[in-house]
Amino acid sequence: MALIQISEPGQSTMPHQHRLAAGIDLGTTNSLVSTVRSGVAETLADESGRHILPSVVRYCADAPPQVGETAKRAAADDPMNTISSVKRFMGRGLADIQKDHNVFFEWVQIESAVPRIHTVAGNVSAVEVSAEILKTLRQRAEASLGGELTGVVITVPAYFDDAQRQATKDAAKFAGLNVFRLLNEPTAAAVAYGLDHKAEGIHVVYDFGGGTFDVSVLRLNKGVFEVMATSGNSALGGDDLDHAIALWIMKQAGIPPSQDQKLLRRLTREACRVKEQLSDAQSTEIAVELSDGSNWRSKLTRDQLHQIIDPIIKQTLLPCRRALRDAGISNEDIQDVVMVGGSTRVPRVRELVGEFFHCEPLVDIDPEKVVAIGAAIQADVLAGNKPDEDMLLLDVIPLSLGLETMGGLVEKIIPRNTTIPVAKAQDFTTFKDGQTAMAVHVVQGERELVQDCRSLAKFDLRGIPPMVAGAARIRVTFQVDADGLLSVSAREQTTGVESRVQVKPSYGLSDTEIETMLRDAMQHAQQDIDARNLHEQLVEAQRVIDALQQALQQDGDKYLSNDERQQLHHGIQRLRDTMDQKDHKKIKLAINALNQQSTEFAARRMNASIQKAMAGHKVDDFGGES
Ligand code: ADP
Ligand code: MG
Repeated sequence: MALIQISEPGQSTMPHQHRLAAGIDLGTTNSLVSTVRSGVAETLADESGRHILPSVVRYCADAPPQVGETAKRAAADDPMNTISSVKRFMGRGLADIQKDHNVFFEWVQIESAVPRIHTVAGNVSAVEVSAEILKTLRQRAEASLGGELTGVVITVPAYFDDAQRQATKDAAKFAGLNVFRLLNEPTAAAVAYGLDHKAEGIHVVYDFGGGTFDVSVLRLNKGVFEVMATSGNSALGGDDLDHAIALWIMKQAGIPPSQDQKLLRRLTREACRVKEQLSDAQSTEIAVELSDGSNWRSKLTRDQLHQIIDPIIKQTLLPCRRALRDAGISNEDIQDVVMVGGSTRVPRVRELVGEFFHCEPLVDIDPEKVVAIGAAIQADVLAGNKPDEDMLLLDVIPLSLGLETMGGLVEKIIPRNTTIPVAKAQDFTTFKDGQTAMAVHVVQGERELVQDCRSLAKFDLRGIPPMVAGAARIRVTFQVDADGLLSVSAREQTTGVESRVQVKPSYGLSDTEIETMLRDAMQHAQQDIDARNLHEQLVEAQRVIDALQQALQQDGDKYLSNDERQQLHHGIQRLRDTMDQKDHKKIKLAINALNQQSTEFAARRMNASIQKAMAGHKVDDFGGES
């Protein structure tokens, strides 16, 4: 198996010319834009001095869309036209979206086009909604920097697949932005802390945001930064803390389970306020207006808060354990734990995470800004403003990429958690004599059988010259670029016939699905190995039978007595019967037995061929088993 490492795109630089560049954290809950000015990376504020832009877009009938704080405030009154958490829908198909129980927007899909949300201003796609957020950030940056941006670095979760990354790039294009590169969020956070300038070491990035939790294990090795493993929970965030506190209030206040949406919203808003307050204070007042107009008042202390939220914080430690296991390391190997996301402001989160990893987490940089700051530093390098710096950032692919081979088996070409960019090639051959085409089926997943993995793309390699089975050399190359996008090519080596595809699936995998697929893969490991062995033996048995039958048909009467022919036919039948028993060990024994039995026949054919060749004839067939 050949392994080709692709070099990073070279950044040519004009000396003495500072090019405007920005880093963008396009978050599920909040977004930010930042830049490097006079050597310092900082987030940029709007006219009112606010740095954080809520990732909320409200579509209006006769006016341009509202983005950010204004839209967020309108959410309660105009829920159907006010779109939040759109990042969850990026690069996803309607079927995936409808599985998400949080969805209450009115989705429409015309034929196979991308799904759209129905609003008063027309139907909008997730990409278009994200583009509105990006446009707002772009305007903010250009106003603040006084010129046009040369390019930006946009951050995405490490687990984002091909389609989700592509969708993010499309959104940037709609917003008129030139994307230098997409960068994984945890990598950006580590860059913000300058961990890439440190000596070698392993760092954990713990990102607890509004609605999602992600953990990544990064390694700095010989000046190269790579992601060793990622894990997380796409349905666990600060919102869950709010929800737990709201439930506690309902219990204390004796509020029965209610359908009063306005009351529930008031409760959640108060819960969120209380939570944020307790990040600084030891105790705080609670006040909620009940359905009957009366006010309920109480107090919440930090200790009480811990009892409410500890179970949720502990849920984040499961993916942490998994990421360490995937990376093949233990607590002692970790140098730093970087805290990212608004929810890591909760002191109890810092405490429990510190206990888990046996080290004091890094919290010096504002956890809400740290990703944007890292993105700005990387954008500055890619814009060519730091010609001496050769910061090479590497990320990983979340699930293995492979090909379907005979018998519905998956041949993994690039294993999961391989760092990107990467290109890997593997040689395949034809299964049948005279085969002139080969179907290339690209799949993603950890399981051994194609049916248990996700299909990404299919294409045909045609025009293979007819050859004996096994003679053609078809090299299939998988290439994943720095943005995590995959392209696959197949090339017949002797003729140079080539075919390629850029994999752009119509929708992506959510990280919950990735988790499920991984869990399935682990649970079914033994079962999968058995299935793979059986498939392999069945394919091999069929190949042996086909070859022997063909040889018998061609030369059986030339080199064999009637009795010998009869014996071989019986042998074939015995192998067929064993195949039906579906026991790979027995099939293997039966294949060996038949091979043994046909050795003499193969030898006689071989001798005849050699004699023919020595007599000046072309050696065209060495068939049979030898
Ligand atoms: P995302 O990356 O998902 O866009 P953020 O990193 O901006 O999200 O985090 C938003 C979350 O952080 C919200 O749930 C918010 O309530 C929470 N948060 C912000 N400030 C605090 C604080 N001081 N204490 C506790 N939680 C906070
Ligand atoms: Mg975030």
